[in-house]
Amino acid sequence: MTAPLAPPLTLLGPCSACGSDHVVQHRASRKTGRSVLSCRACGLHAWAERSTYAHDLEDPHGALTFDYDGYVNGKREGAAQLAWHQTLGLLAEELSGHPDPSLFDVGAGDGEFLALARDHGFRVSGNELHAGAIDLARTRYGVDLVLGELGDLDLSEEYDAVTMWCVLAHVEEVDELIHDCFRLLRPGGVLYLQTPRWTTADGLALSALSATGGRVTRIVDRRVAEHHWQLHTRRSMQALLRRHGFTDVRAVPKARYSLKSSSYLRSLGMPAGLAGATGRAMDTAIKHGPVPRIVLDVFARKPADS
Ligand SMILES: [Zn+2]
Repeated sequence: MTAPLAPPLTLLGPCSACGSDHVVQHRASRKTGRSVLSCRACGLHAWAERSTYAHDLEDPHGALTFDYDGYVNGKREGAAQLAWHQTLGLLAEELSGHPDPSLFDVGAGDGEFLALARDHGFRVSGNELHAGAIDLARTRYGVDLVLGELGDLDLSEEYDAVTMWCVLAHVEEVDELIHDCFRLLRPGGVLYLQTPRWTTADGLALSALSATGGRVTRIVDRRVAEHHWQLHTRRSMQALLRRHGFTDVRAVPKARYSLKSSSYLRSLGMPAGLAGATGRAMDTAIKHGPVPRIVLDVFARKPADS
C-alpha cells in the first residue's frame, strides 16, 4: 500500500470528518504538485494543499453562463433528472407525516431541480452564489433563489427537507455548512446530499501514484481536485453527520455518472477516438453491470426532539 511521507502523522490530524488523528499524507503528483491526505480511521480522502486554492468568482455573471453551456453539452441525457425523481420520491416517503412539505436546495444552480421538486408537491426555496444562475432560475423555471452563502443569509424559516447536490466536496468550511443545514431543518426534517465517493479504484490509482514516485497520476489528479477536494466513504459520512447531531444516517454508494462516459474518459486524458468507443461500452455497463460507484447518496434526519 501507499507509504506516508513526512510530516509525521501526529501533525496532520484531526480528520475533518471523524476527528481522528490518524491522517496520513501521500506522495505528491509530479504533474500537479498536489498530494492526497487519507484518514486511516474513516477513509476520507482529501486534497492536502486545498487551503492554497484561489477561488475564481470575480465574474459570476459571465462565468456561470459560459460553464453552464459546456456542462449541459457533456451531460448524460436524463441521468440527473432520473436521480432527482428518485430522490424526491424517497424524500416524500421520509416526510410522509409532514403536510405541505417545504424544501431548501443549497447551491441550487439554474433551479431545474427545484422546479421538479415543485412538481412533486414541495414548496421550494434555495440559494446560489452565482447571480447569473439566479437569473436563469427565474427566467427558465420561475424559481426565486437567494443570493449568497448559506451562513451569511438571514433565513428564519425551518424546512422539512434540505438538499445538496455535489456541494459538500466544493466548500472549505465543511463543519460550518453541515451545521447550517442542521439549523435550517425543522426537528424531524431530512437532509439529503450527493457527494463524490472514494472507491476501490481510487485506492488502486493512489497506490500506483505512490509506486511510481508520483508519475502515474491521471486518475488521482482528476478525482481529487479543486472542484472535488474531499471524497467520502460511508464511514466518514456517518461520522461527519453524527458529529453534528444527525441520526438515521444512510449513505448508499451509487454508480451515477453525470457526464457522458466519453466526456468523463476524455477528462481523464483519454484520446477522443478511444474515449468514444470505450465510453459507449461504459454507458452500456452503467446500464447493465457493475462499474465504480463514484458517488454517495446520503439521507440523515434531525432528531424530532432537538
Ligand atoms: Zn476520519
